[in-house]
Amino acid sequence: MMSKFIVIKKTFAAVSAAVLAAAAVVGSAIVAGVKAGASAGGSLLTVVIDAGHGGIDNGVSGVRTGTPESELNLLVARLLKENFEAAGFNAVMTRTDSRGLYAAADGSFKKTDMKNRKKVMDEAAPDLVVSIHMNKYPLSSRRGAQVFYRKDDQNSQNLARSVQAALNAMPEAVRECSPLAGDYYILNNAPAPAVLVECGFLSSPEDEALLLTDGYRRALAYAVFKGMISYLASTPAYAEICKPAR
Ligand SMILES: [Zn+2]
Repeated sequence: MMSKFIVIKKTFAAVSAAVLAAAAVVGSAIVAGVKAGASAGGSLLTVVIDAGHGGIDNGVSGVRTGTPESELNLLVARLLKENFEAAGFNAVMTRTDSRGLYAAADGSFKKTDMKNRKKVMDEAAPDLVVSIHMNKYPLSSRRGAQVFYRKDDQNSQNLARSVQAALNAMPEAVRECSPLAGDYYILNNAPAPAVLVECGFLSSPEDEALLLTDGYRRALAYAVFKGMISYLASTPAYAEICKPAR
């Protein structure tokens, strides 16, 4: 699915005029992607997209096919990147291929990997952060996408609510989930409102089957994107420049 956004590469001061002009040109098109107070050449909003795991760390694996979580996370993260870039964002991935963020697969690889993800986030100075994962549970009947936010962080909680609402609205959603506080390194160290999305349970044959299809991954990525945009649109600092996706 293509995201229904257009890009306006102007400074914040020119936004209102640019939005009106763009609206006149494209009719009902939605506008996103201008950063308040940004300097020339760096005027876009930035999102960091983290594909969980990688390298020797596969994460969990599909109950029927054994497909590693790390692989599916990367596929969803790439689709998210496409959506954000189509909307005019600067989208930064923590990893762009199957490798983890460490040189040696030694006893401390996980620590190095996480530190390097933090480094990517810090260097990108993002407006938003999203980390993509797949879930696992002892009961194979457990299904659905679950969003986590950093405890005691109201902005991240609001972002999580918005993303969870978009996921709950998907036709494939099996239950009404509420976002949960989670103690995750990537959330605790994010320099911006951040969510971790568990896209579904690889311990469920039904969720696994869905997550193995490109169509479902696309719809899922679009829902996460849409939820994140809705959050920005409801945030005073961004409301003028970011309108909800339709
Ligand atoms: Zn994971």
